[in-house]
Amino acid sequence: MKQIALLGATGSIGLQTLDVLRAHKEEFSLHAMAFGRNTKEAVPLIQEFNPAIVVVQDEDTKQKLEREIDHSTILSGSGGLIEASVADSVDVVVNAVMGSIGLPATLKAIEAKKSIAIANKETLVTAGHLVMEAAHKHGVELLPVDSEHSAIYQALNGENAKDIYKLIITASGGSFRDKKREELAGVTVKDALNHPNWSMGAKITIDSASMMNKGLEVIEAHWLFNVPYDKIHVILHRESVIHSMVEFVDRSVMAQLGTPDMKVPIQYALTYPDRLDLPMTKQLDLEEIATLHFEKMDMERFPCLRMAYEAGRTGGSMTTVLNAANEEAVRLFLNNDISFLEIEQLIEQELTNHQVIHTPDLSTILSIDKTTRERVRSHLK
Ligand code: NDP
Ligand code: MG
Repeated sequence: MKQIALLGATGSIGLQTLDVLRAHKEEFSLHAMAFGRNTKEAVPLIQEFNPAIVVVQDEDTKQKLEREIDHSTILSGSGGLIEASVADSVDVVVNAVMGSIGLPATLKAIEAKKSIAIANKETLVTAGHLVMEAAHKHGVELLPVDSEHSAIYQALNGENAKDIYKLIITASGGSFRDKKREELAGVTVKDALNHPNWSMGAKITIDSASMMNKGLEVIEAHWLFNVPYDKIHVILHRESVIHSMVEFVDRSVMAQLGTPDMKVPIQYALTYPDRLDLPMTKQLDLEEIATLHFEKMDMERFPCLRMAYEAGRTGGSMTTVLNAANEEAVRLFLNNDISFLEIEQLIEQELTNHQVIHTPDLSTILSIDKTTRERVRSHLK
């Protein structure tokens, strides 16, 4: 029986992880769960799964929850996330929080030699070098939950890194894939949240519409698979049937296919190297799909993807700035404080003004993350 610590239990990935646990009660048990402030969603989950440790975002939420349920171990804040992740009984930490807030807990879980199922791509974008260095040092493997990276992980099974010619990451194109750049000026939050293929949390849905999600995934792939940016390609594939591919030096291409359902990569990260049945997921019906489409990615049309490649190639603290500026700008957009196109403008401004630090340590990263967010907010005035 694997004991799970689930960070971000009330989110899109978190709830689907709980579906996987429900389907395999003999295999997995929930030892700890963390969420932000959504006690309404969380209380029935706590009652159902009865985790030994519950973590919430802040002290106010902790007090609110203590009034609602009788539970002996409710923790709060970043310290709580860490405590849940390193608890002795925990075998696997599923990091499904939104944003770079997941970084310190990931590093501590690696030090405690826990298996890490990582959905939280912002952690790798903001501090990939620290996470991978810690993983190598402590002999911990990061199991990707992001569907593209799970696909690449599966395609690479048993292969030698030296034989990789390139990674080919597929992009559905997000909510605005059929709009021209001129048409993006007046789009609303509601338009942006309407993703054609995947149902996900709000922030990643906006990232998909701006194509920043693909940019973050390129950086995530660079760190997870230790592949240079020149060998990471993005291709538009509107059906989201091929989740990503690896081309090898002998021109052989391995692809992983499936219906767009995050429960598949979530479960694989939990069962690896084994597999389990997943009855609630639809089988892939290629006869019904009949045709698959591929298009070249246009970097002018999607400047966020261009900026992510540039920040990734510069490296160091540049990707910390990319991530923090994006997180904050997306928050402002979701709040109706800025327009959709201002997201990319604010990020570009931050990247242009930043003096890169080449191998920032954790405190430098946390400080750059904080000041970048403050500056993005201040542009508003
Ligand atoms: P959601 O916004 O749906 O969920 C985020 C979760 O994190 C919620 O449970 C939220 O709690 C919790 N949370 C937020 N802040 C804190 C905090 N300070 N302390 C503790 N918990 C916190 O996000 P998604 O599930 O969509 O995405 C999660 C991660 O997975 C992101 O990094 C995303 O990029 C990645 N990902 C998501 C995919 C998807 O299909 N959704 C696909 C691939 C990757 P509360 O509900 O209380 O706010
Ligand atoms: Mg993805």
